[in-house]
Amino acid sequence: MSRISPQPGIMEIELYVGGKSTVEGVSDVVKLSSNENPYGCSDAAKTAHGKSGLNLHRYPNTDHADLRALIGEVHDLDPAQIICGVGSDEILQFIAQCYAGPGDEVIYTEHGFSMYPILAHAAGATPVKVAERERVVDVDAILAACTDKTRIVFIANPANPTGTMVGSNEMARLAAGLPEGCVLVQDGAYAEFVEGFDGGAALVNARDNVIMTRTFSKIYGLGGLRIGWGYAPQDIIDVLNRVRQPFNLSAVQLTVAEAAIRDQAFVQKCREDNARWRAWLAEALMEHGVPSDTSCANFILARFADQEEAEACDDYMKSQGVIVRRVAGYGLPNCLRITVGDEAGCRRVAHAVGQFKAGAK
Ligand SMILES: *Cc1c(COP(=O)(O)O)cnc(C)c1O
Repeated sequence: MSRISPQPGIMEIELYVGGKSTVEGVSDVVKLSSNENPYGCSDAAKTAHGKSGLNLHRYPNTDHADLRALIGEVHDLDPAQIICGVGSDEILQFIAQCYAGPGDEVIYTEHGFSMYPILAHAAGATPVKVAERERVVDVDAILAACTDKTRIVFIANPANPTGTMVGSNEMARLAAGLPEGCVLVQDGAYAEFVEGFDGGAALVNARDNVIMTRTFSKIYGLGGLRIGWGYAPQDIIDVLNRVRQPFNLSAVQLTVAEAAIRDQAFVQKCREDNARWRAWLAEALMEHGVPSDTSCANFILARFADQEEAEACDDYMKSQGVIVRRVAGYGLPNCLRITVGDEAGCRRVAHAVGQFKAGAK
């Protein structure tokens, strides 16, 4: 045993497992395990990236003013209330670090994103898992689980890996019912996939205890570059900025994100294509006897008879070069999470599931 011990909570952390990207012995694979954009990112972002290598000896600016101004313009938000981070994961980390510590409780839900308990432990706080109802976040159960130690409630809306949503009235009821000193975090990683959805920004504006996080990793197709942002009341933003490293985003990240957010036509096209192929895929799987909840995101949660069938189908799909995500770790052992690909990707999934259901091994 080492005499050098980490802080309380650190050894409770179970390492995050990312989606697989290769299958041994199969060369033509389609990766549908990490909710990445099948169309990549906008051409404008690629061009900006190409040019961004010219001044690598220069430090980036520290306040992200240009990017925050553009985000503010696109989403009709006050740029002063925006903070940018290394993926939205970094914003979530700032929130946990600033608002929870030893003795405090951090609520997440039964099938909630696995980063939430990790971040709670990293802050030395106690993660508290609350049951969902049929794979939907249950506001009453969360309110019932709150104590005077509850500091943060993390909810992804739409949720990952279920793809379901909490309505804005329900979210408002939750925010209003939280104990004094507890903040509600609306993780909007998939918000852009919902036509007309503000990610919960209006609720941030209406209250003093609500934060929204967003990312360039999903609809913008920039998961590899690591850019996200948060929107919150001014006093919360001022708190989060205290723990943010001044140069947390590189000049390359800033330049590419600025180009990407200017290209809303790309975002609109991705949203439409995703909705179209998501419906097609859900329908095709249903015809093969594999149901799913109506998804609001860029993946569907396919439900099988039991864990054995889900794993057998996953194995078969892998043998065919189709990589999806097992979600037993999210309390969904009989399900597989399948990212909505492009047309060819979706057709490959449907074909493989059909073959599997017809007895292929
Ligand atoms: C993908 C995802 C994120 C985004 O992570 P980044 O750090 O922005 O890449 C956040 N929350 C959920 C629920 C996600 O699925």
